[in-house]
Amino acid sequence: TDDLFKNVISHAKEYGFVFQSSEIYDGLSAVYDYGQNGSELKNNIKTYWWKAMVQMNDNIVGIDSAIFMHPTIWKASGHVDGFSDPMIDNKDSKKRYRADQLLEDRIAKLDEEGKTSEAEELQLAMDNALKAEDLPRLRELIIEQSIKCPISGTANWTDVRQFNLMFSTQVGAIADESETIYLRPETAQGIFVNYLNVQKSGRMKIPFGIAQIGKAFRNEVIARQFIIRMREFEQMEMQFFVRPGTQREWFDKWKATRLKWHLALGTAEEKYRYHEHTKLAHYADAAYDIEFNFPFGFKEVEGIHSRTDFDLSQHEKFSRKKMQYFDPEVDPETGKPYGNYIPYVIETSIGLDRMFLLTLINAYEEEDLSTQEKQDSRTVLRLHPCLAPVKAAIFPLTKKDGLPEKAREIMDELKLNFNLQYEEKDAIGKRYRRQDAIGTPFCITVDHQTLEDNTVTIRHRDSMAQERVAAADLDRIIGDLVSW
Ligand code: ATP
Repeated sequence: TDDLFKNVISHAKEYGFVFQSSEIYDGLSAVYDYGQNGSELKNNIKTYWWKAMVQMNDNIVGIDSAIFMHPTIWKASGHVDGFSDPMIDNKDSKKRYRADQLLEDRIAKLDEEGKTSEAEELQLAMDNALKAEDLPRLRELIIEQSIKCPISGTANWTDVRQFNLMFSTQVGAIADESETIYLRPETAQGIFVNYLNVQKSGRMKIPFGIAQIGKAFRNEVIARQFIIRMREFEQMEMQFFVRPGTQREWFDKWKATRLKWHLALGTAEEKYRYHEHTKLAHYADAAYDIEFNFPFGFKEVEGIHSRTDFDLSQHEKFSRKKMQYFDPEVDPETGKPYGNYIPYVIETSIGLDRMFLLTLINAYEEEDLSTQEKQDSRTVLRLHPCLAPVKAAIFPLTKKDGLPEKAREIMDELKLNFNLQYEEKDAIGKRYRRQDAIGTPFCITVDHQTLEDNTVTIRHRDSMAQERVAAADLDRIIGDLVSW
């Protein structure tokens, strides 16, 4: 499985999905760039999410709020004081770690060795220390467990300190008039502070939702596992505003709906699981993660959180602006309108980059095609056709006899509707393999017969079956498979 993960990472680079940021300068830790195929795949995942959340729900609308926001927002949300990780340094290696991560790794190790009760004990001790924000206790646990620095092997640790994950910068050109502002660590706050603008201008009635896709920034203490933990990443978040008292019902609904969204892509159900949070964040009254079984184990991809009225109440307190909604609907119990209240919020928050990695890993297959006569294999991305970066590739059989011109002509008819790729280099078999490797559902070959009767060969990625079809039918054939 380690090999599988390594192979996917090198495949992602070789085929233009993901590059290390600033690679020619030896890279920038935990920052990545998406290449020509990666950005198409990423856009398609965004579209799938946006359609499912916004287009398919007439009570959910989308916004695009700025990354920079008033600094007091992060005071109100609790991020200035509370959004931090416990950090510890090894004095000999000068390497920095997340204290909880060191202990988590140790717990996993104990589990692996079958020492379950020891693992549970340590988990409990760690959870208690984290809850009580008892940093000396965390250090004690690390030393007690004689966790050696993974690099130098020494157990010579500094104190544990809280490290805030928000990046800050200055606005304003004049030094003493400038103000420290933050790069948003989540997109959610942009929705909260706009909720009444959207509600009023869109005449939204509770229950309603606001969705957003955008960048978020976290100064993660350690980078791990490729695009799983980045310092600059993208989130797709939706805040659903409900009447107080109905949050549990909506929480259960969104929890189920979001897993269905994942499974609708055809992913095997056993690759997913829910994980219930037992230690809840200060703002939450229920929280579940949707986890995917990556080659390195189950890992959070999406969180569904019941955030109560915490955020809106905090913004009311800090901005001194009313955050209440007037609910004209009549409460059957009292016979009177529900009236003014601060809505409760159910949040669904998915990491786009983690979804991207999941999609790539799930689609990646090294398929053995050997027959008795000869050895053969191919690497194929079995992506859902809607997500595939390139929908069809067009090949002239040869570079002469007017075949390239004919192929271009067919391509021109289709390229407004579908992202296509034209290729005339190498043998057809080789061209098929290159398209398999990026998950292209169809390859279309133009040959001499095409010049006579306007038919082409269409070859299917998954079955590798070929058939002869009329060029005029291509729009429908491709569309049937790749339209939403
Ligand atoms: P983790 O426990 O893995 O750090 P989190 O609980 O802090 O994640 P949330 O704050 O709930 O994550 O953010 C929602 C989603 O954003 C996560 O489910 C994840 O998919 C994504 N996400 C969070 N941090 C990162 C990151 N550093 N890089 C990439 N994606 C991230």
